[in-house]
Amino acid sequence: MAKLIDGKAISSAVKAEVAGEVQKLTAKGIRPGLAVVLVGDDPASRIYVNNKRKACEATGIYSEEYLLPETTSLQELLELVSRLNEKGDIHGILVQSPLPEGLDEAAVVETISPKKDVDAFHAYNVGKLMQGCPIFQPCTPAGVIELIHSTGVTIAGKHCVVIGRSDIVGKPMAMLLLQNNGTVTVCHSKTANLQEITRQADILVSAVGKAGFVTADMVKPGAVVLDVGMNRDGAGKLCGDVDFAGVEPIASWITPVPGGVGPMTIAMLLRNTVTAAKLQNGMAL
Ligand code: NAP
Repeated sequence: MAKLIDGKAISSAVKAEVAGEVQKLTAKGIRPGLAVVLVGDDPASRIYVNNKRKACEATGIYSEEYLLPETTSLQELLELVSRLNEKGDIHGILVQSPLPEGLDEAAVVETISPKKDVDAFHAYNVGKLMQGCPIFQPCTPAGVIELIHSTGVTIAGKHCVVIGRSDIVGKPMAMLLLQNNGTVTVCHSKTANLQEITRQADILVSAVGKAGFVTADMVKPGAVVLDVGMNRDGAGKLCGDVDFAGVEPIASWITPVPGGVGPMTIAMLLRNTVTAAKLQNGMAL
């Protein structure tokens, strides 16, 4: 029987640490500030933005919300981002994805100042990550690393298999595991003999987006299993990629969904906002 990795408790601890940092910075006249921009009225995105605002409030981070209509042009959006780049009380900028069709997401990301790019999506920050010296840790993969550390299992020397190679999760996940001295294999939809590879994983991270994708026969007994997937099952209930009932008896550690990786993403975003505020004020990290 695997031990559960409690993302709720671990994210609460990170938020408490962030709140302490915010208090110290605010006492010095530097209150970390985050701007969140939402274009259109996608209900899921609205919930994410609300959660980010609440998390800012809970940790003392100043936040601004920009809710723009679906009809916003790319130029209007880029102008807003440029204004936020110049705003002294805003240290981090997040433009909620997905953007409505027709708005060039890459152009928006590249307009955010790399110093305020708390999602770590800008090419400059992606490059720093590739060089092994990221300024900001990409939020979801950094959350997964924090969860692995919480188990006491060392990443160094372990075979880490990541299923998924997206720019947001899979690729930066692989880079962070490598930075932690893991031996990393990245799998994707064209991978041959997927099961053969995943069965070699001491640490298995799934970021596919398909409910029940990772079954017990894909997991090495004793593996640490991290489930990034956020899917809906047949009954509309939130679930991950991993067949939890099948895998839990053979893994050594496993994240539940909900309550695993999900809560970590916002916590790491808050941490990045504090980092941004320090850097923009010439402070050591
Ligand atoms: P994505 O861009 O759709 O990428 C999915 C990846 O899975 C792709 O690299 C794809 O391979 C791979 N894949 C698909 N079918 C496969 C198969 N049969 N065998 C092996 N690999 C396969 O998704 P994403 O943005 O990375 O997100 C992945 C999941 O994580 C989603 O459920 C998303 O909702 C969730 N997520 C959660 C959080 C969080 O905070 N917990 C944050 C972000 C995302 P190809 O590249 O070959 O197509």
